[in-house]
Amino acid sequence: MEKKIVNNYGSFDITFVKSSGSTMWAADGKKYIDFISGIGVNCLGHNYKPLVKAISKQARKQIHISNYYFSDVGLKFADELLAVTGFEKGYFGNSGAEANEAAIKLARKYGQLNGGAKRKTIVTLDWSFHGRTLATLTATGQDRFHPECFAPYPEGFKKIIPNDFDALKNAFDNTTAALFIECIQGEGGVNLINPEWAQAAAKAARDAGAIVMADEVQTGIGRTGTFLASDALGFKPEVVTLAKGIAGGVPMGACLFRGKAADVFVAGDHQSTFAGNPLACAAGLVVVETVSQPEFLDRVNHAGDYIRGAISSWNLPIVKDVRGKGLMIGTQIDSKIKPFDIEVKCLEKGLCTTTAGTDVVRFLPPLTISDKEIEEGLKIYKSVLEEFCK
Ligand SMILES: *Cc1c(COP(=O)(O)O)cnc(C)c1O
Repeated sequence: MEKKIVNNYGSFDITFVKSSGSTMWAADGKKYIDFISGIGVNCLGHNYKPLVKAISKQARKQIHISNYYFSDVGLKFADELLAVTGFEKGYFGNSGAEANEAAIKLARKYGQLNGGAKRKTIVTLDWSFHGRTLATLTATGQDRFHPECFAPYPEGFKKIIPNDFDALKNAFDNTTAALFIECIQGEGGVNLINPEWAQAAAKAARDAGAIVMADEVQTGIGRTGTFLASDALGFKPEVVTLAKGIAGGVPMGACLFRGKAADVFVAGDHQSTFAGNPLACAAGLVVVETVSQPEFLDRVNHAGDYIRGAISSWNLPIVKDVRGKGLMIGTQIDSKIKPFDIEVKCLEKGLCTTTAGTDVVRFLPPLTISDKEIEEGLKIYKSVLEEFCK
């Protein structure tokens, strides 16, 4: 069958027809273990009964009403998310890039109110990824995302090198509106940010009068074993952005504010038609209530440590590093081998993975992945890596 969807993604020629837990089935009946969960989205796995039930129930009540009004489930979800994260207010959107656009606009307005027209710059980190809209592409600290064909890019972004204390010396001044940190760089290669550095960077930014924002679109909602990754890094941002896992597969994003950032947005500053509709909020409510349980997060940590430990224990010569936190996992591969070739081989054998940076195979399995599915996936992964060692 000819496919009429623009192949912006270089998609594989596999058509999936059903999924359950961390297992997916293609149209030809072939079974796949899901180590990527729709790029960190299906945090409760596929066909998670309480989620399906909540969405079905909400669909019968109301799917969408516009933001001219409030919905009961929207208010409840906001209360729950803010209580769990310790933020004061929130904006709901539809995606990660859009949540980050909201954060960027908020930072610019904060700068204007606290230093005038010159305080507009947003400082982001080298190797970061913030999204595919023009502003979020510009915020992204990887030049491969800045091809000339999309120019001109917006002004007012500056990059610093993460984990480099020297880079903090001249990073912030009275032109800085915000420091924007991607808490573990997903797309950039599952790169960990050193907590001492993050705290020092946050302090330096605040000392210069800027606010601190965390892009937790990938790391948030339990992915790294704490509800927010910034909790573990030990700096409490004024703004945090969330998306991917937030509604377990229903498109949604959020930008949460507190402290100096809490009262920046007023009516009319930022809006979107679909944003935070009742269907998405009903899904989000199940996700947040489930993921915020301490036992749930303990299990994420255990499963992640187990997977990293297993890969390290194979002692394969092509594996240069195994890193990450919770169920955000990167295997750094010898630069002679393309991680994409490993991804292709894994798929052939029935395992969905993805890549990151230039030399990393990335796993973002459902946070609910079972021991059995972990074993099945690791067995395939080991056999593929061994093939590449030959
Ligand atoms: C995926 C991602 C985004 C973009 O989210 P979309 O929903 O694709 O717009 C932004 N920031 C980070 C850290 C991401 O991982």
